[in-house]
Amino acid sequence: MSDALDAYDSDNIFAKILRGQMTAHTVFEDAMTFAFMDIMPRADGHCLVIPKTPARNIFDASAEQLATCMLTVQLISRAARLAFAAEGITIQQFNERAGGQVVFHLHYHVLPRHAGVSLRPHTGQMEKTEILSANADKLRAALAKL
Ligand code: AMP
Repeated sequence: MSDALDAYDSDNIFAKILRGQMTAHTVFEDAMTFAFMDIMPRADGHCLVIPKTPARNIFDASAEQLATCMLTVQLISRAARLAFAAEGITIQQFNERAGGQVVFHLHYHVLPRHAGVSLRPHTGQMEKTEILSANADKLRAALAKL
């Protein structure tokens, strides 16, 4: 193993979404963070939280990126609990290929959970755009009630 990390690649999919070069189902944004629907949801309402500034993953992220993302993760978790009557929330975050990371811009998965319902496979099936859009609407409506 080399000590050096691969450099941040500004052509990754989430960087393109942040630049408006690819569409996303936006749920929330503030000065530092952005939240949008995962297109291959492992659970209904599966949302991603990312920093607006470049970070590959946990290894190069700044304290500010980590702290602001986690506050947004908490906000989205509370909204998801309300929006999907979630009995629980699973937070996932993968680092480097060996850690399961596929997109190399730091991100947190927020997964609404219900007792006895297993997660679908990671990067499994693409969801219909109208369902992603409806779930983003539900999350935004719940955020407005918090
Ligand atoms: P990972 O890097 O392992 O956390 O996985 C990347 C996640 O990004 C997976 O859950 C994918 O379904 C999701 N994903 C990939 N492309 C997009 C996209 N264009 N919009 C939203 N989510 C995406």
